[in-house]
Amino acid sequence: MGRILFLVVLALLGWVFFKSWQRKQLGDKPSANPQQKQGLGRNPVENILPCKHCGAYSPMHEGVMMQGRFYCGLDHAKAAGEKIH
Ligand SMILES: [Zn+2]
Repeated sequence: MGRILFLVVLALLGWVFFKSWQRKQLGDKPSANPQQKQGLGRNPVENILPCKHCGAYSPMHEGVMMQGRFYCGLDHAKAAGEKIH
């Protein structure tokens, strides 16, 4: 019985060492980075801001930002008196 237990522990230790060796061979970065990249790269919640002119909410990429003021379009930025070059 003791010998079997010893063999099982030895096998487990060998497996753990093999896994850690495998991880080193692959490099720690590929296994750690995808999660970080997913966390940083993914941006499911886009900033939706109200237009300063009409108050309509638009995603940031659809509107224009003028000196910290958001407009749903260039027309409203102009209408609100923003100087567009
Ligand atoms: Zn607007």
